[in-house]
Amino acid sequence: MPVYEAVIGLEVHAQLRTESKLFCACSTRFGQEPNTNVCPVCTGMPGTLPVLNARAVELAATMALAVGCRVNNRNVFARKNYFYPDLPLGYQISQFDLPLAEGGAVTIDAGAGPRTVGITRIHMENDAGKSIHSQADNASFVDLNRAGTPLIEIVSEPDMRSPEEAEAYLRALHGIVTWLGICDGNMEEGSFRCDANVSIRPVGQQELGTRTELKNMNSFRNVRRAIAYEIARQEDLLADGGAVVQQTRLFDADKGVTHAMRGKEEAHDYRYYPDPDLLPVEIPQAMIDALGAALPELPAARRARFETALGLPAEAAAALTAERALSDYFEAAVAAYAEPRKVANWMLSEMLRRLNDTGATVADCALAPEGFAAIVRMVEQGAVSQKSGRDMFAALFSAGGDPEAYAREHGLAQVSDSGALEAAVDAVLAANPAEVEAYRAGKTKLMGFFVGQIMRATKGQANAKLLNEILAARLG
Ligand code: ADP
Ligand code: MG
Ligand code: ZN
Repeated sequence: MPVYEAVIGLEVHAQLRTESKLFCACSTRFGQEPNTNVCPVCTGMPGTLPVLNARAVELAATMALAVGCRVNNRNVFARKNYFYPDLPLGYQISQFDLPLAEGGAVTIDAGAGPRTVGITRIHMENDAGKSIHSQADNASFVDLNRAGTPLIEIVSEPDMRSPEEAEAYLRALHGIVTWLGICDGNMEEGSFRCDANVSIRPVGQQELGTRTELKNMNSFRNVRRAIAYEIARQEDLLADGGAVVQQTRLFDADKGVTHAMRGKEEAHDYRYYPDPDLLPVEIPQAMIDALGAALPELPAARRARFETALGLPAEAAAALTAERALSDYFEAAVAAYAEPRKVANWMLSEMLRRLNDTGATVADCALAPEGFAAIVRMVEQGAVSQKSGRDMFAALFSAGGDPEAYAREHGLAQVSDSGALEAAVDAVLAANPAEVEAYRAGKTKLMGFFVGQIMRATKGQANAKLLNEILAARLG
């Protein structure tokens, strides 16, 4: 029995965040009454002509540049012919021989070391409508609101070797499209989705095995599950002396299995040809250069900078670059209080905990980054206790405001005046002579008891560090 390795390539579809569709002025808004965002163009009426949405080209080219693709100055829309009720034109307008962009890469690490996943091409195309099959009505309906919505398809090289790497690559792309804001990344609504091509081959063999194409996975987890199932299924087939059949398979998330849907079509089945209704897209080099110059710092670069320039541990740098708004918030907080590790700790514990628990996003946080930084600084400098700092963050997250004023109004200022603290320590020691004697005789566990008594006397406002120093001196 040979040992097999998995070979995986992904085709990712991302819906571009434009106001209107790719070839008409209809709205792209999700969740509208069926067949309200439609016009003669996107419903395929005879005699209508498509007009390309320039904004879609900009967004698509921005993504292409962000993953290091070469953007073609001249690219061509092609008709991909097939018949389906939700495709009123009878063809999808896509790109074939001359796509928007070619030859990029994304580097991932799913635990087995860094791997560079090549990006074969990125092309533009329009989406189909949606078929709705109703058992209650014993009928099928078609909603064309989505028909004509702009998509990019990002085709990878077959460079991934495990379900985890496929997931990591998909997450990396998702991170980039949302960072750039070219796609909302919503997988449940289908604005970011992928098909996975999976084959296996004996380790050491160069030639690729026969692949199946998996569809219908609407979460990162399901992509990983579907691929893992499919690898095991193909291994079992070969172990039994069978062969993998090239086909399209659907993932059933409830059962965790894939089912054959149809024989996998070949490109020639689609009778691709250049769309005679659309001129070739000419993108001037100056426009490509301008889009490239306008690219923001991307998550991978920022993560590296957080590690090297700010000295953050790798996990913290990764967590703080998972989302652009969160990352920007952190940067603004560090600008206000230049203790990156301390600010990062508070971001990871207090901020992320709060966001995870409530499902809120950093945009819902009314406390400005400068205020957040002020809380961290006040705790660090001993102006308020750790606990008061946490309470302030909890209160100011939704209310916003100035932490210094809040601490004053709520009497949170710590007793850091050593004279006042010494008096409180002396009073507690005087009131507990037996414990003091026991402590001096070696029962050092009593330290906690003294701290507790003094904290009670100062209503929890004693500066813990100072208090410990005074106590140690008095008892020593
Ligand atoms: P199609 O559009 O017909 O699915 P493509 O040639 O565009 O065909 O390939 C789609 C994807 O399949 C690409 O991501 C590619 O890397 C991947 N792929 C091609 N051959 C294999 C294979 N033998 N095993 C795994 N993935 C493959
Ligand atoms: Mg395919
Ligand atoms: Zn329309």
